[in-house]
Formats: sequence, structure tokens, C-alpha cells
Amino acid sequence: MAYHYSDKTLPTVIVIGGGFAGLEFVKKLNNTPFRVILIDKRNYHTFQPLLYQVASAGLSADSIGFPYRKKIGPFPNIAFRMAEVERIDPAEKQVITSVGTMQYDHLVIATGTTTNYFGNANLEKWGMPLKTISDALNMRSDILQEFEKSIVTETLEDKESSLNFVIVGGGPTGVELAGALAEIKRNVLPSDYTEIDRALMKVVLIEAADRLLSAMRPASSKAAQKYLEKLGVEVKLNTIVKDYDGHKEELLLADGSILKSDNIIWTAGVKGKNIPGLPESAYGRGGRYLIHRTNAIQDVTDIYALGDIALVQGDTQFPNGHPQVAQVAIQQAHQLARNFMRQLKGKPMQPFRYKDKGSMATIGRHKAVVDLPSFSFSGYFAWYIWMFIHLMALVGFRNRFMVFMNWMWNYFTYDKALRLIVRPYQKPN
Ligand SMILES: Cc1cc2nc3c(=O)[nH]c(=O)nc-3n(C[C@H](O)[C@H](O)[C@H](O)COP(=O)(O)OP(=O)(O)OC[C@H]3O[C@@H](n4cnc5c(N)ncnc54)[C@H](O)[C@@H]3O)c2cc1C
Repeated sequence: MAYHYSDKTLPTVIVIGGGFAGLEFVKKLNNTPFRVILIDKRNYHTFQPLLYQVASAGLSADSIGFPYRKKIGPFPNIAFRMAEVERIDPAEKQVITSVGTMQYDHLVIATGTTTNYFGNANLEKWGMPLKTISDALNMRSDILQEFEKSIVTETLEDKESSLNFVIVGGGPTGVELAGALAEIKRNVLPSDYTEIDRALMKVVLIEAADRLLSAMRPASSKAAQKYLEKLGVEVKLNTIVKDYDGHKEELLLADGSILKSDNIIWTAGVKGKNIPGLPESAYGRGGRYLIHRTNAIQDVTDIYALGDIALVQGDTQFPNGHPQVAQVAIQQAHQLARNFMRQLKGKPMQPFRYKDKGSMATIGRHKAVVDLPSFSFSGYFAWYIWMFIHLMALVGFRNRFMVFMNWMWNYFTYDKALRLIVRPYQKPN
């Protein structure tokens, strides 16, 4: 029997956010006796792990975004609303959105995270984040504009500032972006920007901890650093950024030293993108919702959280919550959908158990690091594994095909071909 969204006798499930968690959850509720509404402020899903390749002109934006309606349009019991959820009223079981108020029986919050500048207003103003496709396009424009600017500026100091790319945060995003920028310096500047003295372009990666990729094993951190340094990236460990003066283009470090740079890329942290309206006790560390192992948010009824925004309590293997990665989001989504079906049959919900399948990061051509649950490896083979897994994880055949073709092009030509300044980036004043 086909269930239809227009059947108001079915319980209404509202899902806020169509990232890895929200989209996976609604897909699992296809053709089930629920009336499902997916709300997202954008009309497309973003494949965040490849944002850095859009930012570094290796991939086009539309090959890592996927329209929600294309995915769920064919599912009769699921509707999409493009709206921003502003507030939740748990007493009335309502969500208040930019397009009106909606009533739910069950609410699932999967709003992910936003960039965390740890309260520094200057870094928030001037630092470039990498969380959305817009961020990636801004960054791409900015990098290319700085190349153009460096050619026409007079003084060596200004040229150096334009060509100094400082990435703060040595997690996977910072590492992968640093590798991609180093490849631009190595492969693109000598052929297309012959007026730029290549030696002036610098890529600096700053990390507060004593190693890169601190969520991975030490051997992988070491390999990643070695690969980056071979590519010419300057890796600064145990280094804390204090402040940034965007007018003087000066980055102040905790040891008092100053780095001159017009380009501060901030990948040093995230915080939960929670929505107001729930009791204080529902919000935990890092802006995440405190949830039981069934993904139910504590101290409210019929409200659940999934993915990056959810801080699971009571899992002895992960006493500080699960890592904010795609696999956790996907596995939680599957478990919650199973639990919704169990509830329909009068069965109790089962707790979420994370199956760690490993983690990985790539550092330019032919180099990647992979941590599997029992061992780690790096190099050529890791790079192929990285490519295969990311290709398969993309939503939609067209996107997989486009990404594959682009990668082939980049591989054989050594080019990052998508170097258009379509939408010039305006630096803040
Ligand atoms: C640059 C980058 C690289 C990454 N690389 C990797 C990687 O290699 N491997 C890995 O496993 N993980 C990676 N991650 C982390 C991974 O992307 C996240 O763990 C995952 O996206 C979490 O999924 P989610 O569904 O919880 O949130 P998201 O995917 O962030 O989705 C949240 C959704 O909610 C919507 N939303 C937010 N607030 C509202 C609102 N108020 N109203 C309506 N809609 C709203 C947003 O538009 C968005 O679509 C990376 C993240 C980034 C930023």
C-alpha cells in the first residue's frame, strides 16, 4: 500500500536539516505510514567532504550539491519545504519557520554545525570559513583574486601578503585544503601565472595541538605532515592564533609573533547549530543537544536529534560523545528510522551503537592516510581508497560521474581547471 503525504491521519514527522543525517533518515521513511516533511534552508544537499575541492577549483559546485526534490520528489509520503526554522515550541508541538508555523507529532533535528571562532570577533569577520558551497565559492574567488592582485600590486610586502595563505586548524579540512593549495602553487602558477614569482606563494597550516589530524592515529598524523611538507606546506604545530587585524593584514600568534597575510582560512572548530525553544537542560557542550542513546533529546518528548548536533550520553566507548563525521550521522539516521518502525509495532526503541569504519584524509596527488579499526596505512593505495569511498558516497549518479571526470581531467593534465571568478568575493571593510 502506498502512503501519501496528503493523508492527515498519518503521524507527521518533521525533519529539520537535509544533511547526511536528515536526508538518510527521510529516505528510510519512504513508503512507511508516516507523513514526513523535510525542511532545509537550502534546496540542495551538500557533500561537505569535497568542499575543499570546490574552493581550490578542482570541482564545480553543482557536482557536490544535490537538489532535495530530485531525491525525495518521487516519494509520495515525503514533502520538502525550503525554509529556515527559527524556533521550536515543544508545548504546542510546533516549529516556527520563515514560511510559517508547522505542526508535528515527532520532530527530528539534524541541523549540523556552524564554524566556531571561539568568540573572536575579528577572526569571525575576516577569517574565511568552509562549511557551505557559498563559502567554497567565496574562497575560490578570493584565491584567484589574490593571484590577480599580487600581479598588479607594487610592493613586495603586499605581494607576499596576497600570496600567503594561512589555514588555521589541522583537521582533515585544513590538511586537505593545504595540500590542494600547494598543488596549485606547484602545477598551476608556473604555467598560467608566469608573472607571479612562485617562491612568493606560501601555504601555512597552523595547528594548536602537537600533531595534525589529532582524531587519527599518530602514524597517520606523521605521514600527513611529511606529505604536506614535501609539497612545500609550512606546518606550525603547538601554535595558537590570538587575533587578526584585517586592515593591517596581520595575524597575531600567542607567542607574540605576527604573520603577514591577506588570506586567513579558518577550519579550527565547529559548534552545534541548535534552534531556540527547548529547555536549558536539553543543550550540552559545543552547542549540541544532549540525547539519550535512542537519539531522544533529554527533558522533552517526541523530539530527537541526529548527526553533528547530537551529543549522545551513556555510551561508555564514547564518553565525550561521538565524532562529528558523516558515518555517525548516517548510522544514527538508520537506527532512528528502525526505531520509529519498532514503535509502530509496539516494540521498545533500541540504543544507538556506533560501528567505527575508520577515517581518512588525502594530501594531494597519490597521497592519503587511512585509519581502519585495526590498522593504518598511507600513500598511493590509501589515495585510491579515499577516491573510491568519496565517489561512492556522493548523492546521485550524475554527481559521481561529474566528479570522476573532473578527477580524471585533473589527474592527466595536472590542472585545476575551474578557475573562474564568477561571483567576485568582497572582503569585509
Ligand atoms: C569542509 C568539511 C569537510 C568534511 N570532511 C569530512 C570527511 O571527509 N569525512 C567525514 O566523515 N566527515 C566530514 N565532514 C563532517 C561531515 O560533513 C558532517 O559530520 C556531516 O555533514 C554531519 O551531517 P549532519 O546531517 O549532522 O549535518 P549537515 O550535513 O551539516 O546538515 C545540516 C543541514 O541542516 C540545515 N539547517 C541548519 N540549520 C537549519 C535551520 N535552522 N533551518 C533549516 N535548515 C537548517 C543545513 O542547511 C544543512 O543542510 C566534513 C565537514 C566539513 C565542513
